[in-house]
Parts: sequence; C-alpha cells; structure tokens
Amino acid sequence: PSPVPPPMPPPSACWRDGQPAPYLHIARTFNLLEGEKGRIKATSLLCNMFRSLLALSPADVLPAVYLCTNKIAADHENKELNIGGSLVTAALEEACGTNRLKIREMFNKFGDLGDVAQECRQTQRLLAPPTPLLIKDVFSALQKISVQTGSRSTSRKKGIIVHLMRSCREKEMKFLVRTLVRNLRIGAMLRTVLPALAHAVAMNSCPTLHQEGTAENIKEKLQVLSMAVVEAYNILPNLDLIVPSLMNQGIDFSVSSLSMVPGIPIKPMLAKITNGIPQALKLFENKAFTCEYKYDGQRAQIHKLVDGSIRVFSRNGDESTSRFPDLIDIIKESSKPVASTFIMDAEIVGIDRKNGYRIMSFQELSSRGRGGKDTLVTSESIKVDICIFVFDIMFANGEQLLGFPLRLRRKYLKDLFYDEKPGYFEYAKETTVEADDACLTCEATLTKINAFLEDALRSSCEGIMVKTLDVDAGYSPSKRSDKWLKVKRDYVEGLNDTLDLVPIGAWHGNGRKAGWYSPFLMACFNPETEEYQSVCRVMSGFSDSFYIEMKQFFSGDKVLSKKPPYYQTREAPDMWFCPQVVWEIRGADFTVSPVHHAAIGLVHPSRGISIRFPRFISCVSDRSPEECSTAADIGEMFHSQTRKMDITAGD
Ligand code: ATP
Repeated sequence: PSPVPPPMPPPSACWRDGQPAPYLHIARTFNLLEGEKGRIKATSLLCNMFRSLLALSPADVLPAVYLCTNKIAADHENKELNIGGSLVTAALEEACGTNRLKIREMFNKFGDLGDVAQECRQTQRLLAPPTPLLIKDVFSALQKISVQTGSRSTSRKKGIIVHLMRSCREKEMKFLVRTLVRNLRIGAMLRTVLPALAHAVAMNSCPTLHQEGTAENIKEKLQVLSMAVVEAYNILPNLDLIVPSLMNQGIDFSVSSLSMVPGIPIKPMLAKITNGIPQALKLFENKAFTCEYKYDGQRAQIHKLVDGSIRVFSRNGDESTSRFPDLIDIIKESSKPVASTFIMDAEIVGIDRKNGYRIMSFQELSSRGRGGKDTLVTSESIKVDICIFVFDIMFANGEQLLGFPLRLRRKYLKDLFYDEKPGYFEYAKETTVEADDACLTCEATLTKINAFLEDALRSSCEGIMVKTLDVDAGYSPSKRSDKWLKVKRDYVEGLNDTLDLVPIGAWHGNGRKAGWYSPFLMACFNPETEEYQSVCRVMSGFSDSFYIEMKQFFSGDKVLSKKPPYYQTREAPDMWFCPQVVWEIRGADFTVSPVHHAAIGLVHPSRGISIRFPRFISCVSDRSPEECSTAADIGEMFHSQTRKMDITAGD
C-alpha cells in the first residue's frame, strides 16, 4: 500500500456508527478483491475495510479476519463445516424458490456455486427488504454449523443456511455460498490479511504516521510490523490470541510479547534441498554442523501441556493424538519428572520389533487407522508399532527456545528426557562435524559424511539432514532456510527431490485409458500472486484403480466450467478442476518451457519451468493445495540442478 496513509474510508451507507458492522461491508470488499490480482492493491483494499471496522466496531475485527481467511477456528481445533454442494443447493432451492434442474443448468454455465446462488438471488422478487446480515451473525452461524452432529444435523444445518440466505443483499449471497463450500476465491490468505490488518492498526493507532518521517521510513515501519505479525502467527497460529494483541499494542506490536503455548502447534521448520554433500559442505564451510538420519515417517510435534497431558500434531497442525495412543505412553515413560511442559519435534516411524529391529516404510505406517471416531486406534488394534525419533525441542518448562542454537536446544532435550529406549524412544542418529573440519577439501570429513549417508540409506532412511549447530542455528518456524539442508538418495536418481503438485485439469484418456482422465495437468502454487502455475502433464505412475477413483473424485462441483483467472498456463485441457489434492511427482530434470508457467519471471522473463518425464509417486495427504511446492521452490531447484542448461535456447 501507499506508504502515506489514505484518509479514513467513510463508513458504508448501510452502517451507522456504534452499531455492529454489516456483512455487506465485507461482501463489498470481497467483490473488489475478486477482480484484483495484485497483492499490494489487495492488501490496501483489506486495510481500508479493517480501518473502518477498527474505528466503528472493533468487536467485529476478529470475526472479519476469520471470514476473510475462510477459517472458522484455529487449524489445530480441526473444526469443519462439513457442508457439501448438495446441501447448499437444497438450501438455495428453499431460500430462493428455485429448483435443482435450474441450479444444475446454471452451474454448468458459471462453474461456481457462489455465482449460481447470486444469480438466483438477483432474479428473486422480494416482498420486503431483508433484515441486514451482520458480520458477527454470519460468523456465529458458521460456528453453529460446525458443532451440529447426529441425526437431523443436516436438516439443522440447512435451516441455518436458509436463514442466512434469506437476509442476503447485493453480492452477499455469492460470498456467503463460497464461504460455505470453503472456496472463497478472492485470493486472500493469512499472508495478505494479517499484514493488511497490521497496516490498518498502525494507521488508526497513529493518525500522524504520515507526518513521521519520509515515505521510505513509513514503508519500512509498516513492513516491520507486517513481518512481526506473520512471525507471531507462525509461533502461535491462533487468531483469537494474535488479533486482540495486535489491536491492543498497535504500532508497537512485537513478537516477543507473545509466547508459544503448549497445545497450540507452531508452524514447523522446513529444510532446503541440496544436490549432494559437497553443496551442503560449501554452505556450512567453517561452521560446526551436524548430520542426522532423515527418517521416512510422519512428522510429529509433541506437546506436554500444563495439565500434564500429551498431545501430538502433524506437519500441518492437525491433531493426531488419538491415532497414536502408544506414543503417549512412550513419551510419558521417557520424560523425566522435571519436564513439566514442552514442545518438541520428532518423526514417528513404523518399526518391526518382533523380527529384530526393522524400520518400516512410510506406506506401512500409513496403514494404521486415522484415529477419528470411525477408525478408533486402541492398544489392542495396533498392528504397526512405532518408534519416536526426536530431533529438536522448541519450548521447555515455560521457556521459549527458538532463538537458542541447536547445540543448546539438544542439551535441553537430553536434560528433560531419559536415555534412549531402542525401538521406542530414540534421538535421531547423528554425527557432528566441528568448525575446524568443516571444509570441502577435508577428505576425512567427506569420507565420514558419505559413510553416514550410506548408513542412513541402509537403515531405510530417506537420506540425511545437515543442520548448522552454533552459528545461525535457531529454530525458524515455517521457514525453509539454509539452516537445515536435506540430502536424499534420489539426487543420484534424477530430480534431487520430488515436487508436491496439484492437479488443476485433465484431458479425456484415449485407447486403454478411454473413460478415464489422462494425462493430468499439474501445477505449483505461487503465494506471491496467489496463482496456480502449470508445471507438467503427468500420465505415468498411476494404477488403473487410481484412474477409476480419480474419475469419480473429479466430478460435480470439483469440475469448473472454464479456466479460472488464477490458473497460469498455456495448456488447454478438456476439463479444469478445483484445487483439491496434492500429489508427489518425480521427474528426470527441469527444463525451461514456453507452455508451462511455473516460476515464470524467476528464471526466464516469459517462460516457466517444467519437468521432464514426470511420474506420479503418491498422494500427499498432509498438505492442502496451497501448501504444495511453490514457484520459488521450483526456481531454486532449477538453479541448483547439476545439469545446467541454456535458458535462452530457442528465444
Ligand atoms: P520431504 O518430502 O522430503 O519429507 P517435506 O517438505 O515434508 O519434505 P522438509 O522440510 O523438506 O519436509 O524435510 C524435513 C522433513 O523430514 C520433516 O518434515 C520431517 O518429517 C522429516 N525428518 C526426518 N528426519 C528428520 C530429522 N532428523 N530432522 C528434521 N526432519 C526430519
């Protein structure tokens, strides 16, 4: 946004000072955002909306942030609306007096249930003007829907939706329906919404901001504040805590005022890929570092809460405590009485303890029940045993350890836990290289690490992690930085790492694959522009049963009638899909492509990056589409691939 704060936007004509804010205030902003591709303009639109809310109805700010980010609660609460297109359609029939056939016809034309609902509402004759919808009412209705269970819950949900729909004005219907089907399509994510709120808070709490220094200074101040609030969210991903704290502290908001809370998972630290040990050594030259086995299991953030309970969270913050009752016992037995609270990082790996000691594959671990109420995991029903390999600790006995170097964090770990119990509780196997030996020319170091990598691979691990120990060795939530590098077996086999991509479209299959979709068009995500950019077509690695499953899966409202503006590609598949799932894809190497737009502008001004000989490896169940490989990841992988190519060839 412009570094100089614009004047306060006037309150909407439908909203009187001191009264709760109407939903229309948000719907109008969403409508403007929908046509807006630029992040800066989008932040500015949201900022203006928040400024009026802050001034006229501060109590509505928090629900507004939830509505803008299409969330109903903190991620770890696993709250879902569980509403399908058919329930919304049924509600629409009742609220607008239309019928299913008409709705289907319109859906085929528009390809979006929100647009269909809007059309139904617009053509409806109303006898009296509806009672205005309020932001707080829409949000509390969503929460009410999320707690409906048991018999007749569908009809109760429908009742709530019909009631909301009957009050819709202007474009409210479109965004209400999109909110219900969890596809808001305004491109606003936390990374845009939180900085927009931060800017609004700064401008409102400091009306003389624009007089305080140069435009550059102000811009920098706002940037620092935006970064602080996003960083705070990474360690405390709970809007109920972050938003009020930001509103209270205004421009003085600082991350240090918030602390991690056992029970609320922090965003995990991530690793960068390398194309081999020499590259890792080059990055860590003259710095002490450690190599650890990279276990092939499921990441687990294990929390001990003040009440003594142990809870486990997956890589994307979902709670998986009920899936691992045995883990709880292992942790209780392994932690010393002095460990009153902690948050630590570990990998849960399937293990065969009966026939010696064999680490199992990730697939074998995945055969465990999911631990929901339908697939209860009890000590008796467990078929795959687990071992916990601990590798980090971020919080101990009320103390936040993120800023401490890894060497010191490890010490905390060993102070709180007993010695290893092989096959149950182990520290990630490691070997340390001290600063004096950390150089590319040191034969002994190279030999030592190569041998360690071979050991890791022989022990069914994916490779090794290389981590800085003392210098620049803090724990950075959510960041993929040079502090953690991964060296995987696959770098010798082709692509250094696999990509996590989203199917955004497909062609009708031919020959043996007639009746199925093949190939699929795969895309990465660019969080900067909030667009999906195509990477490749993929047509190998799938089983026949998978093709059949996908044909059924990509149907109904998962199929779009036309290419959405936020899909960037020159491909024209027969069908376009909503971003729904993430697949792991491996290829031979990266190439520059005039057709695919992944990382366009990062390597070549008008061409994207594609991969050669792509092959489907597996479904990635612990990531949402927006968490797939990013354009920046792909740009970086392209640059780090050993086989260099002339990117201007064919220009
Ligand atoms: P990948 O598909 O390679 O696991 P990812 O994107 O899920 O990648 P990365 O940050 O790239 O995650 O790699 C780190 C992952 O490796 C962690 O999420 C964790 O699950 C796993 N892992 C296994 N052993 C370790 C270890 N010793 N230290 C850190 N992470 C480890």
